[in-house]
Amino acid sequence: MFKALMVRKDDEGHRARIENLELSAFPAGDVVVDVEYSSLNYKDALAITGRGPILKSFPMVPGIDLAGTVSESDSADFKPGDKVLLTGWGVGESSWGGLAQKAKVASQHLVLLPSSLSTQQAMSIGTAGFTAMLCVEALEACGITPEQGPVLVTGALGGVGSFAISLLAALGYTVEASTGRVEENDWLLKSLGASAVINRDELNAPGKPLQKSRWNAAVDTVGSHTLSNVCASLNYGGAVAACGMAQGMDLPASVAPFILRAVTLKGVDSVRYPAERRAAVWQRLASLLSPEQLPGLAGVCRLDEVAERAVELLDGKVRGRLVVDCR
Ligand code: NDP
Repeated sequence: MFKALMVRKDDEGHRARIENLELSAFPAGDVVVDVEYSSLNYKDALAITGRGPILKSFPMVPGIDLAGTVSESDSADFKPGDKVLLTGWGVGESSWGGLAQKAKVASQHLVLLPSSLSTQQAMSIGTAGFTAMLCVEALEACGITPEQGPVLVTGALGGVGSFAISLLAALGYTVEASTGRVEENDWLLKSLGASAVINRDELNAPGKPLQKSRWNAAVDTVGSHTLSNVCASLNYGGAVAACGMAQGMDLPASVAPFILRAVTLKGVDSVRYPAERRAAVWQRLASLLSPEQLPGLAGVCRLDEVAERAVELLDGKVRGRLVVDCR
């Protein structure tokens, strides 16, 4: 028997609670992982609370991230004792996920843990850090370099935003952080390495199609009017990596920044990012983020506290990442 956070939706409504399950309950997968750590992402919080249509079927074990040790394997690529991690691929949405003591998953979705990371450190990074790294690489692919000018990160105190700031600062970029919690100035500047903090109110209302050039590039986790205003405020030839929708799914923009300033809008998806390129992204994360820095980026909670913390996350009361100890 093992414990899992189970989300059910039936005549009694949408509810999440800890249940005791047997391994035979797992629907699919060729590798069993003893999950040591998972994490709580925005998407998980929507799934657990039922505030967003994330889960594709019920009952469902949520949790889009997991890291642990292989305990059983029918795959030639993994053997018992291997340390592994998994993010994305619809795990925790359409197949059972990481918020449990055990997970049975498809071997092609697993990545061997970089030797310099523990399972807890890997989950401090999780989908949020992985996505932030993909955003930075998307900007690099657009030819963006540190000496060209400052880079803006929106949703700065969120999981993706805080990692994007750390990674960009580690690569030598001048980073400006946009947040609704300017009282956390100190953490953004001193711990993460931002060089300036702006109030997100400057960006989240309807704005002009073209505005004063302020940034050379941006990582946007917010969408909606914020993304439109960011596009309108980039330098000639600038780029924005867009990965999120914390303000909204809409994009009330004009084509002006694209046709008059040659701005690039690059979408980033971490869920179906190609399997064969993931190990290299994780190695780069392990090399850019110092192990001493990671605990500061994440708090830890227990599996039985997750449902409560999910509400706090959606209410904007969580700073950075929340790691879940599933042992
Ligand atoms: P978090 O909840 O940790 O952070 C979101 C942040 O957005 C908040 O901390 C807040 O930052 C800011 N924010 C929230 N509401 C608003 C608002 N109304 N207007 C402006 N800013 C707001 O989420 P994550 O960092 O995990 O994810 C961020 C976004 O990226 C989400 O939309 C998520 O779904 C998406 N995502 C996409 C992925 C992909 O593969 N494309 C992968 C992972 C996440 P602050 O307090 O600093 O203002």
